[in-house]
Amino acid sequence: MNKISATFITFVIALTAISAPILLAIQIAYNTAREAEANQALVYARDVLTRSEKTTEQITQGINSLTTSGHTDPCAEENLAIMRNIDLSSTYIQAIGHIVGNRLICASLGLPEGGLDLGSVDVIQRSLARIRTDVAMPFAQGNTFLVVESDGYAAIIHKDLPIDVTTGDQSISLATFSKSTGEILTFKGMIKPTWTTMPKDVTEHTFVDEGYLIAVTLSDTWDIGGIAVLPMQNIRARTMSVAMVLVPVGIVAGIVLALALLYLTRQQQGLPAVLKAALRQDEFFLAYQPVVELQTGQWVGAEALIRWQRPGGEMVRPDLFIPVAEDSGLIRSISLRVAELAAADAAGLFQRNPGFHLAINLSAEDLHTEDTIEMLLDLAKATKAAPGNLIIEATESALTKPDLARDIINRIRTLGIAVAIDDFGTGYSSLSYLQSMDFDYLKIDRSFVETIGTDAATSHVVTHIIAMAKALNMEMVAEGVETEAQAQFLRDQGVQYAQGWLFAKPMPFTDLMDKLAAAGNVRPVG
Ligand code: C2E
Ligand code: CA
Ligand code: CA
Repeated sequence: MNKISATFITFVIALTAISAPILLAIQIAYNTAREAEANQALVYARDVLTRSEKTTEQITQGINSLTTSGHTDPCAEENLAIMRNIDLSSTYIQAIGHIVGNRLICASLGLPEGGLDLGSVDVIQRSLARIRTDVAMPFAQGNTFLVVESDGYAAIIHKDLPIDVTTGDQSISLATFSKSTGEILTFKGMIKPTWTTMPKDVTEHTFVDEGYLIAVTLSDTWDIGGIAVLPMQNIRARTMSVAMVLVPVGIVAGIVLALALLYLTRQQQGLPAVLKAALRQDEFFLAYQPVVELQTGQWVGAEALIRWQRPGGEMVRPDLFIPVAEDSGLIRSISLRVAELAAADAAGLFQRNPGFHLAINLSAEDLHTEDTIEMLLDLAKATKAAPGNLIIEATESALTKPDLARDIINRIRTLGIAVAIDDFGTGYSSLSYLQSMDFDYLKIDRSFVETIGTDAATSHVVTHIIAMAKALNMEMVAEGVETEAQAQFLRDQGVQYAQGWLFAKPMPFTDLMDKLAAAGNVRPVG
């Protein structure tokens, strides 16, 4: 990857890092605001409904007491007294009277000669109550009233009373409506007739329409409902105020992240130069991870793993610098250094432990050049290795030029050096490589060993790999064995060797030697 594209990718990632949390925060802020506003609207709608229910209750009681008074003349003096009493004792009813046709004949308050024309009925309720929604009264010029008529009596209600909810906000519209017909009875502000339509089988709901948030609620007992309408600006304002806090935080977090990413890519871009210097200054050494025979638990070999310790003491992981070395053409120098280090460490190893094997890791580049043969010959000579003592490990991804690699691998094998296919199953076209090349060992990658005994989708892959290795006559080394259960499974499946923290972590060469000496014998190779 060149510098420009690396920087570009960094910026794209940084941009995503900045915008993703901000967009998410805005979305969350909006949802929270919408829910808060919807709840608020429902509170208003319920409040309106409660007032309407109380009004309806008072009307029903009032009219009831008149129809059951026993006086045949509805305008009898005793009835008028009851009317005046209702008027006085009820909070919502302004007046109550006897109605014939559209004309109020007598009432709890004085009427003009011949009664008062109330005009035609606007809404007929399910209960057969007849409602006039806009009636002018001589005693209150400029106001109109709601008149609810039932059984020959009419209650006069101040239109504002049911919707006299203190919202403290002029932009909020409120209304009551007839549940059965959907017609508006009283309202304040802007109410669309279609808003009274409810979905089936619900008694409350909120929705958004034409820039408004609407809450509707229905009475359980009466044929009425309440509506409250809030403009969406409220939600936008609420969202904005949350966003005002979150966006700057997101921007700061994003910038910090972007800088960290830039710093890391800079570091990466400078790494080849640092690697070169590290090679000059001998900052590398090898750690050896024992390979055990699963049946006996004996240490029969070890894998050499490169370690890089910076002058400050800090360790750099091979996962980090091996790919950089591979990309920058330094991997050959690294491999040469590994061979030299192994040669120095293992000078007398095979004389003391004739059956032991030692594995080193090679990269793609190593499998494409004749020089590797030279390098391995030197290593074999320095360690006095017998056939089978030395193993090279090549990952599947190192076999990108199969024709070149096949030739080098065959020549390595004729030197008496065994070849292991490493990280098996993690690359591509494994099967075709396996069939066209000769390998002695197959290393089952840690990622598959990890899945043993779990219900991960890939947990069955390990048994397929084992079956394949058996069919191709390869011995198997399982990597990254961390639990006895994994070891037992592999043993039962006929896997011969394993390495992993269950047995030992990578260690300095001297430790390996001490442990081997303490254990005594090591069986001879094959
Ligand atoms: P690898 O060849 O698959 O090596 C095994 C890695 O797994 C090693 O990491 C080892 O320390 C780690 N490991 C061993 N047992 C366990 C375990 O039980 N649990 C866990 N979690 N990890 C375990 P390391 O040493 O960091 O090496 C990482 C990779 O770097 C190696 O993977 C190999 O691909 C590469 N590498 C290491 N040394 C060399 C080298 O000398 N040359 C080349 N070309 N690559 C090397
Ligand atoms: Ca390896
Ligand atoms: Ca591996």
